[in-house]
Amino acid sequence: MRHVIWDWNGTLADDLPTVVRCVNLSLAAIGENPIVADDYRDHYTRPVRRFYDDLLGRAVADSEWATIDYVFHAEYAKAAVQVPLASDARRAIDMVAAAGGTQSILSMWWHDDLAAEVSRHGLAEFMVRVDGNTKDAGETKERLLEIHLQALGGNGAVMIGDAIDDALAAQSIGIGCVVYDGGSHHRVELEKLDAPIASSLVEAAAIALGE
Ligand SMILES: [Mg+2]
Repeated sequence: MRHVIWDWNGTLADDLPTVVRCVNLSLAAIGENPIVADDYRDHYTRPVRRFYDDLLGRAVADSEWATIDYVFHAEYAKAAVQVPLASDARRAIDMVAAAGGTQSILSMWWHDDLAAEVSRHGLAEFMVRVDGNTKDAGETKERLLEIHLQALGGNGAVMIGDAIDDALAAQSIGIGCVVYDGGSHHRVELEKLDAPIASSLVEAAAIALGE
C-alpha cells in the first residue's frame, strides 16, 4: 500500500504570495528593499538564513537575522489564517484516499500552527499523522522526516513537496519524492534533481501512486 507524505507550505498550502509579503516586512525591518515572487524563487534555499545571504548578496549580521526571523514568523502567524489550499489540493488528497493510499503531512512550520491550519481546511481526517516543527528554526527536514517515518512505522512512503530540500531529505533517507513546481523553486532548478516533477498536485499524486 502506498503512503503519501505531503509537504505543507508551497505544496498543499498555496502560500507563496503570503511568504513574499512576510519576507518584505522582514527586509523592511532591517532597512532593505522589497522583492517580488521571482526573486524569492531565484534565491530560495535552506537553511533560511542562507536564503537571505544569497538574496542580499552579503552575510546578514546576527542581529539582523534575529530581527528577520522574529518579524517573518510574527507576520506569517497573523497572515496564515488567510492562506488558501492549492486549487487542486483537495482533489489530489481525495485521489490518494480513493486509491486506498494513506496520507500524512510533514512540515518545517511550527507544529501547533500547522495542526490548526490542517484542521481549518478540513484535512485532519485524511491524515494518519500531522507533524510540524516542535524545536527551532535550525531543524532540518531530513531529521524530521526520519522521526516521521519511524512514527508511521510502515513502508512504501513517497513524499510530495515543492522544495529541493524535500527531495534531498527523501533521497538521503532512501524514499521517493515527487517535486511540485508550483511552490518555492523555478522548474529549471527542480530539473537538476533526480526526481519526477509534477506541475499540479493531482499529477504529483498520480505519480506517487504509480499510475
Ligand atoms: Mg514547501
